[in-house]
Amino acid sequence: MATVIAPPQRTSSPEIVELVQAKSAEFNWVFFVVIAAFHLGAVAALFTFHRSSVFVFLVMWLFGQNVGISISYHRQLTHRGFTTPKWLEYAMAVCGTTALQGSPIYWVAVHRMHHQYTDKPGDPHSPRDGKWWSHMGWILRGSLHSETAMLSRYAPDLQRDRFYQWLAVWHWLPSH
Ligand SMILES: [Zn+2]
Repeated sequence: MATVIAPPQRTSSPEIVELVQAKSAEFNWVFFVVIAAFHLGAVAALFTFHRSSVFVFLVMWLFGQNVGISISYHRQLTHRGFTTPKWLEYAMAVCGTTALQGSPIYWVAVHRMHHQYTDKPGDPHSPRDGKWWSHMGWILRGSLHSETAMLSRYAPDLQRDRFYQWLAVWHWLPSH
């Protein structure tokens, strides 16, 4: 199966080449080590079970995955499904950073690309390019991670916001 996700496509303007996810020559060892450590931690948790750990897990899952990724990154920031006061929007976006899925600008841009090209050439993580690619390959070898200037084209609304510019650099901080 082809691993190059899409050939460059031209828009109506001949100077603009659409941004595409391609298999990078460089393996992202930083992501690999972080993800591997979390999987090892999940196995270790089976042998060090404690009720307080379950409570911490539930709180982190509730705020990181549900409030942060599902409500903030996905529904509010990507699809603009609803609005809130800015302080609440920012607070929920910070929750999203604790899920270790990147900054709001990166996540939103990749997800808007995904909706634009769902399961077609240009989809950054289509299963048509392989199950492994759509699961982990695009994270470990995807070329979009280093294309922050290009990604901002898909999230210009967030790119204009100084708080999201700041989070694009420091998104790893809240989870520490
Ligand atoms: Zn969506």
